[in-house]
Amino acid sequence: MKLAAKTLILSALMMSNMAFAQVIIGDKQFPDAGKTYAPGEGGFGQYQTKSLMGTKKVVLTFDDGPDTVQTPRLLAILKKYNVKATFFTLAEKYNDKTIPLIKQVIAEGHIVASHHLDHEDNNGKTEELYKEQLKTAISGLAKIMEETGTPNTEMYYRFPYGAYGSSKLNYNHMNDIKEISEELYGDNCINFTFWDIDSLDWLKPMDNGDVISNIMANLVGGTAYNMVKSKWSGKSKKEKYEIKHPMGGGVILMHDIHSRTVDLMETLLRNFKEKGIQVVPLNEVQEYSYKGKECRLL
Ligand SMILES: [Zn+2]
Repeated sequence: MKLAAKTLILSALMMSNMAFAQVIIGDKQFPDAGKTYAPGEGGFGQYQTKSLMGTKKVVLTFDDGPDTVQTPRLLAILKKYNVKATFFTLAEKYNDKTIPLIKQVIAEGHIVASHHLDHEDNNGKTEELYKEQLKTAISGLAKIMEETGTPNTEMYYRFPYGAYGSSKLNYNHMNDIKEISEELYGDNCINFTFWDIDSLDWLKPMDNGDVISNIMANLVGGTAYNMVKSKWSGKSKKEKYEIKHPMGGGVILMHDIHSRTVDLMETLLRNFKEKGIQVVPLNEVQEYSYKGKECRLL
């Protein structure tokens, strides 16, 4: 009886997940082609990767590189465990040393994506500057991708800090993404990507174990850590909390510029294996799939 009840709940859950997923397929991860976004129109929550929730599947994403020391260390581990990831790179870091590294990332079967030109908050920029930087970043990466001979069809983009579309501005970044994409590709090709699980590997007080706990707690439940600001002293302190209803899957945010992130990677991947967590490539996830759409630089 117990088992039957469990199965019933599980299949009901799966069905509700599927129903959810069906609603969000389509152009959801591209800016909506038929719409002009108003300043302040946006938000983060609507872009959660619902098709992965409860599936025990994760996408690994690494931001802010390439880093000539940490990225190669990370690549070696990913190769050892036969795991494919996505790297959101900053175009201002593209140079004679990092471009071969980007090509290596592509050759080893990972996805290279754009994390803009610089890591400033885009909500502090004029529209003119934002567009100019976006164009430089996307065309710079697309050219490197072209040089590898890899079919240049997928261009994922992540806003630094996830920041876009502030109501304080007189424009919305989504319209500019469409405009620059039309200019470069002749189509709506830039697929923006947020994240579901923040590992907090970018916060100094988090140690290896804390970062692993933050990820695992969101997948299977358990203890996670956050920095909480004291009302009295104004200082931030690390505090633990329990996740009782984990997402059970999603896009994980990490950074390949910190040695700690690479140091903990093997343990994390072994934990995944123990708990039956599968790492899947971003382009195989429903919300991020190009579904055969061809996007090439004009
Ligand atoms: Zn970043």
